[in-house]
Amino acid sequence: MSKVHNFSAGPGILPQEVLDKSAEAILNFNGINLSILEISHRSKDYIPVMDEAQKLVKELLGLDDDFYVLFLGGGASMQFAMVPSNLLRTNGTAAYVNTGVWASKAIKEAKMIGNTNVVASSEDKNFNYIPKGYTIPADADYLHITSNNTIYGTQIKQFPKSPVPLVCDMSSDIFSRKINGNDFTLIYAGAQKNMGPAGATMVAVRQSALGKTDRKILSMLDYKVHIKGESMFNTPPVFPIYVSMLTMKWLKDNGGVEWIEKINRQKADLLYNEIDNNPLFIGTVEKEDRSDMNVCFLLKNTELEPEFDKLAKAGNLSGIRGHRDVGGYRASLYNALPLESVQVLVDVMKEFGRIKG
Ligand SMILES: *Cc1c(COP(=O)(O)O)cnc(C)c1O
Repeated sequence: MSKVHNFSAGPGILPQEVLDKSAEAILNFNGINLSILEISHRSKDYIPVMDEAQKLVKELLGLDDDFYVLFLGGGASMQFAMVPSNLLRTNGTAAYVNTGVWASKAIKEAKMIGNTNVVASSEDKNFNYIPKGYTIPADADYLHITSNNTIYGTQIKQFPKSPVPLVCDMSSDIFSRKINGNDFTLIYAGAQKNMGPAGATMVAVRQSALGKTDRKILSMLDYKVHIKGESMFNTPPVFPIYVSMLTMKWLKDNGGVEWIEKINRQKADLLYNEIDNNPLFIGTVEKEDRSDMNVCFLLKNTELEPEFDKLAKAGNLSGIRGHRDVGGYRASLYNALPLESVQVLVDVMKEFGRIKG
């Protein structure tokens, strides 16, 4: 079987050793001759998995003791509703930065719950840049931003200094680079981009920020309820949490976020360099806002796409077609994707340049 280079935007690539261990746990978890799929989440074999997953998030993000880490169902999309349910007061206003499809969806949910103020947007240029220099109202209940825009391939390089609690959707670049986790009040991420498989969503929230809203919150949407239940108020996504834990452990054991940030940098530089120097291709994003995780580019002559697709397929490149809203190509360079896979993609682009140049 020849190796497939997996550039999928999500669910995305996982480390091979994590897949091997996960497969083993499905058949015989911890040597107990039971599958991890058929034991209680409250069993003595599973509790340490949840503890370790929570601990690893705090370590990798450098979070202080005010933070509680939850693993919930419902995807990152559920957080679009949970964040305003918990942090937006009935007479308050939430500030949002609109940098793409996911941010827009977060705004839509918040609007159904309370007052929102979109303080900046890059919609005027099909979200190909990150707005900067906007004013954050000092009386907002929080500011919501999206650190990496998976569909458009933009990434916030410098987080805004916020006078109000900062909430961030980090679904597609969590653990990819060093950040000051303690600058945030709430960080959430669907696992399936850079942390694990689909089904679990990580929420790290400052406990001191909760309990300030006067609204009634449905139990399943209430962070305090989930914290009281130690992330087991209801049955958590047992297996996705296990695989996420293994992926975080893989990252930590190899040198953590500092280690992967260097490699992610190399991968992104390698690919952007080819896009900028190969006359057949063009990037879609303002250079200073380019994402290290999702690299979006076009063939200048779109009629050549079928031929390039053929060459990419022959090179065992998978998942590089762009999102329907942008077109062209998108290569996702998540943590588990090795540098050599990016080299293969770049070699295919060079080869295409030779054939067509
Ligand atoms: C994929 C994605 C989402 C949606 O995640 P779901 O788990 O499918 O709800 C939200 N935000 C960002 C930035 C994403 O990349």
